[in-house]
Parts: sequence; structure tokens; C-alpha cells
Amino acid sequence: MSDYLQMWKDLDMDVETHDMLCQVLPTAFGDTFLSMENRPESMGFYDFVVSEIHGIRPSEMIAAQKEGKKVVGTFCVYVPDEVINAAGALFSGLCGGSQFWVPGGEKYLPKNTCPLVKASLGARFDRTCPFFRIVDLIVGETTCDAKKKAYEILGEDVPMYIMDMPQMKRDIDIQKWADEIKAFAAKMEELTGNTITVDGLNDAIKTINAKRKALARIFDARKNADNIPISGLDALLIMQIAFFDDPARCAEMANKVADELEQRNKDGVSVFPAGTKRILLTGTPLAIPNWKLHHIIETSGAAVVCEEMCTGTRYFENLVEEDNATLDDAYMALSKRYMKNNCSCFTPNQGRIDDILRMAKEYNVDGIIDTNLKFCCLYDTERRNVEKAVNEAGIPFLGIETDYTDSDAEQLRTRIEAFVEMLG
Ligand code: SF4
Ligand code: SF4
Repeated sequence: MSDYLQMWKDLDMDVETHDMLCQVLPTAFGDTFLSMENRPESMGFYDFVVSEIHGIRPSEMIAAQKEGKKVVGTFCVYVPDEVINAAGALFSGLCGGSQFWVPGGEKYLPKNTCPLVKASLGARFDRTCPFFRIVDLIVGETTCDAKKKAYEILGEDVPMYIMDMPQMKRDIDIQKWADEIKAFAAKMEELTGNTITVDGLNDAIKTINAKRKALARIFDARKNADNIPISGLDALLIMQIAFFDDPARCAEMANKVADELEQRNKDGVSVFPAGTKRILLTGTPLAIPNWKLHHIIETSGAAVVCEEMCTGTRYFENLVEEDNATLDDAYMALSKRYMKNNCSCFTPNQGRIDDILRMAKEYNVDGIIDTNLKFCCLYDTERRNVEKAVNEAGIPFLGIETDYTDSDAEQLRTRIEAFVEMLG
């Protein structure tokens, strides 16, 4: 990635510290991904993106900025990409998934903050992530307390806009989120100098729906009870890259993977031996490059066939109604779709439990692992209800808590191996 050195310097990055990250990532990726056998050929695109992760997409974003476009960073699957797209801006997810950034975040946040939030702040303040340097605006949301407070600190260093997220799902909350989306659209118009029209927003809705449909095809192929055409690790990587790639290219590449997986299912080409136990993973998001848990599960005799999480099904399930007559109709259509996401920040959150039980059937799973990022008290507390419902449904359940370090890897492996063995 050294070809991008001047770009990183122009972004005022700490290139020496950043070099250390660039040195460890290829090894981590190689050990985790390139050692897997029989990967789909279409994963070549995603391998290439990782090999150029701090170069290729950032350089596209900078080129767009030179043409007068804006780049907007987000942290949550409730922020509607459609509005950013309709205003002619680019978007990128910013959630940090590496331990590399955590100590930097701990200079600003209490240690007992979830690693995703600490890593995100560390990436910005340590100046070691180009995406955090490029963005013209960061959009936060009032989901969990950790993020709300972190946004105040981040806002001292970068322009921030906060969307006020309802915490319940009554009709007034859906109306409230539609109003918030409308206010966000006005902010985007102010930022970009462009007017959001109903036709433009309808087009953006179609673009993002196309991306959702393509990602859904990949997950549909993973439902096959007799074949596992792609590892959970590769599926996770596709989802993680979807958060910052161009949406049209994301759809095109995901469709190529889906074509290959559908053919693999017809031909009986599996990446795991017959009888491998199928795991549904639920819980807190797995931001790039957090591949730890998938790697442990998939080298312990099981395969992850579904992720009920924001870096999984929540990102693409449910489409937004298209061809809206007015902007207000479009904002309401967006609100209705986004409010179908079932994050633990909502109360009550029975919808998530319903999703987990539905997906356990759809993906023909043998067991469910609920993973929680350390210090995320929302998902941690919700585990009680999830576990109860899963037990009542007669599905084996394992709850784990972890962070971005490798210090618990062996302990996790022991527990996961025992769980997989118990599945028979
Ligand atoms: S877990 Fe909740 S707060 Fe975090 S990205 Fe998902 S929806 Fe947003
Ligand atoms: S994992 Fe939990 S604490 Fe961390 S950002 Fe998401 S909701 Fe907040």
C-alpha cells in the first residue's frame, strides 16, 4: 500500500504509526483467509480490496472531493444511506474493528467502554485511518450511551451531526424518525449545496435496494441445508466491505458471488465437509478487521451460516418502498424500513428474538452463539431474554463475551470446541 504514502501525508496522517498497522494486516488476513481452502473465485475482488484497504477506496473518495462531492461517515445501520446518496455525496461506515486503535481511544474514553467505540475514536485521534481523515461530516445517532458521549468528544475534532433515534417502535416513533430523516436531508442539502428531489431520492432508494437484494442473494445461498458454499468468514468480509464500497459496485460484486454460490449449491461444492455443524451468530457488530470469532468457530469444526447482527442480516433485510410520490412519502418509507431493524437500544426488542428464531429455521442451524463486545451492556442485558427464548425453542445456545485482543482466544476456542462437540 506504499503507493499511497503521499495521499496519507496529504491527509495529515501519522504515517509512521500507520505503517505498523499496514505491516500487521496482511499477516492477519493471510493467516485467517488465505489459509482457507476452496474459497469462491469471486472472493478475489474482496481480497484485493483488503490488500489496498487504506488506499483504493480512500483515493476514490478524494477524487470525488476534488470534483466537489462530499464524503459522509456513519456509525450505525439506522442512518439512511439513501439520503446521502440522493444529495450526491459518498458514504462510508467508520466503526473501528481493530485492537490497534483501542489504546488511542482509551486516552479519551473510560477503559470500560466497548472496544468498537474506543477503536473508532482512536482511529480518528491517532490519525491512522484515512477514512476518518477524509470525511467532511460524521453522522452520529442517539443509540447507545457509549456512542452518544463519544460523539461529543469526536465533535471537538470533526464536524458532527446527530440524529435523534427513537427508542421505541410506536407509530409516533416511526413518524419521529421520518421527521429526523427529513431534517437530515436538509443538513445534507446544506453540506453539499445540492437539492434533494423526489426523483433523486427514489433513484437512491433503488440503488441501495439493489445492493440489499444482491447481499440477500448471498445469504439465501447460505440457507441451503445440504451444502455450505461459502465460509462465514468470507461472507462477513463481504458485509464489512459493503459498508464503505460504492453501492452500485457492491451490488455488482455481490451478485457475482451469489451467481457462483448458487452454482456451487447446484453442484454440491462445499467449503466444509458434509455434516459440519451450522452456527447462527447473533449479537454486537463485527467491524472490519474483527475476524476473530468466525476464525475460531470455523477452525473448531463448525461453520457460521448466518450473522443476525448489523454486519449481517440487519444491513440488508427489508427493502424501502420505491417510487414514492412526494419527499415526505419517501422519508416515511425510509423510516418504516429502518425501524424494522432490531437493535438492543430499543425497548421492548422482541423483534430481535423473533428474527433469531426465524433465522435459526431459515438457515437450518444446529446451534446459536450470542457474542457480546465487552462493556456493551445493551446486548449483554438482552442476552437473558435471547437465551430464554432460544432454550425454549430447543436450540443449543452459547453466550460469549470478548473484545479485540487475542488474550482470550484459547479460552474461547476451548469453549467453542466443547459447544460444537455437544452439538453431536
Ligand atoms: S448495534 Fe445498534 S447501535 Fe450498533 S450499529 Fe447496530 S443498530 Fe447501530
Ligand atoms: S457494541 Fe454496544 S456499546 Fe458498542 S457501539 Fe454497539 S451498541 Fe454501543
